[in-house]
Amino acid sequence: MYKGSCLCGKVTAEIAGPIESIIHCHCSKCRKNSGTAFSTNGFVLKAHFKITKGQNYLGEYETSPGKRRYFCKTCASPIYSASSTTPNYIRLRLGFLDSDIEERPKSHNFVNSKANWEVFEATLPHYEEHEPGRENFQQKTQ
Ligand SMILES: [Zn+2]
Ligand SMILES: [Zn+2]
Repeated sequence: MYKGSCLCGKVTAEIAGPIESIIHCHCSKCRKNSGTAFSTNGFVLKAHFKITKGQNYLGEYETSPGKRRYFCKTCASPIYSASSTTPNYIRLRLGFLDSDIEERPKSHNFVNSKANWEVFEATLPHYEEHEPGRENFQQKTQ
């Protein structure tokens, strides 16, 4: 069981299952949403993700059709996104986690959108868009 909380602590959650397909996303939306060079995100089955406190503090913003980003209305911490293309999953913002995790990031994605000030010395694989295999999550339920 992993635990997470936002910056102000009003929103807390528990993650009962694995965090899959963790990547560093350098796309312009993740940069703006995170306020920094990239966002580190991973899939968690909706059935494994439970907001344990502060559901009423969750704000949401639809950044592209069918994709909503959820954040704490008080402190603005990004918490997760939900997309109509992966209806059984949420996509967790890993900065939200308080627990140490066993899973590790697999790649850097949307590297062509990276900020020109970012010193990019990463050794993980680089992809111009999503990593190979992302489409598997669109139908998967378990
Ligand atoms: Zn907060
Ligand atoms: Zn992104």
